[in-house]
Amino acid sequence: MYTIAIINFSPDKQNTLRAETSKDLKLSALKEVILQGWPEKMQDLPKHLRAFWAFRDELGIETGVIFKGRQVLIPDSMTESILKQLHSSHQGIEKTRRLARESVYWIKMNDDIEKMCRSCSVCIEYQDANPKEPLQPHKVPTKPWQSLASDLFEVNGRHYLLTVDRYSKFPMVDEMHTTSSHAVAQKIQAYVSLFGRPDEILTDNGTQYTGEAFKQFTKEWGVKHITSSPHYPKSNGFIERHVRHIKSIVKKTLKYGGNLQMALLQIRATPIDSKLPSPAELIFGRPVTTLLPSRTDPGKEEHRLHLELRTAHMKEHHDRNSRKELPPLQPGQHVTVLNKERGTWHPATVVEKSTEPRSYIVQTPNGNQIRRCRSHLRELFKPHMQINERRNQLAEAPQQTQHQEDCNDSAETITETPCTTTTNYERQNSPPPTCTRSGRVINKPSRYKDFDL
Ligand SMILES: [Zn+2]
Repeated sequence: MYTIAIINFSPDKQNTLRAETSKDLKLSALKEVILQGWPEKMQDLPKHLRAFWAFRDELGIETGVIFKGRQVLIPDSMTESILKQLHSSHQGIEKTRRLARESVYWIKMNDDIEKMCRSCSVCIEYQDANPKEPLQPHKVPTKPWQSLASDLFEVNGRHYLLTVDRYSKFPMVDEMHTTSSHAVAQKIQAYVSLFGRPDEILTDNGTQYTGEAFKQFTKEWGVKHITSSPHYPKSNGFIERHVRHIKSIVKKTLKYGGNLQMALLQIRATPIDSKLPSPAELIFGRPVTTLLPSRTDPGKEEHRLHLELRTAHMKEHHDRNSRKELPPLQPGQHVTVLNKERGTWHPATVVEKSTEPRSYIVQTPNGNQIRRCRSHLRELFKPHMQINERRNQLAEAPQQTQHQEDCNDSAETITETPCTTTTNYERQNSPPPTCTRSGRVINKPSRYKDFDL
């Protein structure tokens, strides 16, 4: 059972945060005021606490940490490491501030963020020199993942595919080892399988997008493909802007050994503007957890209870069944035998019960007879088999056989026979025939070949 944590932060960092909050004189005094109750007038507060007056109703303490709504109050000793974390994706001042407001708070946080961004050597080196393109906006989509835009870009000889949802601005970025039409279509198909089918996709006239494989993809999935018009090649200004943004992030992370996936998480978790939540929240309907501390969204109580019930029910079902003995097998019965080395199951027919407890002698399709314990045999029900045929088989008398193997043997006779190996099955159009004890051959229709394997 999980206890519902109130803060998204690793346990170690939570402990540090708690300890540093206690050591911090200002935050300790603030805790005191929150617990004792606020005075009538701001003037009655000690000077260093007056900055908290304006939002005193939003402040609360839980497990030794002070919260301002969702935001965690950061003690002075930790602001520098949090600032570093906030700016690890090297986004601009406004975006970094928006990301911060999602999770943390300290007085002067906005100023500190501005100072840090302005003095960041990486950001100075990679300042955006591109003039802004005049905007020719397409119609605004009405819901997430309805309209996508896609483009390719290159950094240091590496190729990247960028696909952005035009509604949420949620970016998907993949390094491409080949930029063929097929490779691009495959990638975008994987996104579509993950998030659903979009109505349209906007691209330029690059060969990847005009190629046969991409055409086939859009046709198959019923996605309208809109390409920028030859007269206005810059009409897809949306993707141009996003390519610039993501490209600069990729450049910075490559040069300074940052983690591109972490940088992308921050971009996805940064609110789009003061009125719009983050791309991730627009797509998933909830904020995603980053490496920054923040108050946890407890999730839906109803769903959590249902999940717990479900787990308890599955355990009960499993325990009940694991106590049950497997049903006995009859001579002539079709089974599959476990090949322990490969973990695969192969067809065989039961000859008779062995003198060893819970073991049977079975015959493989090539005529070998082996002994196997019951737990390594599974009943095989053949849907095409007539009831009469099954009865006849069950009635067939078993023959005396040599028993060479038992459960502990790892040498498997059946693996050496070509007709039972998976590769041979795959190479053949129809599966090999199965022999009954009497030598009668049962040819399985090819549609059941997967059933045996
Ligand atoms: Zn920077």
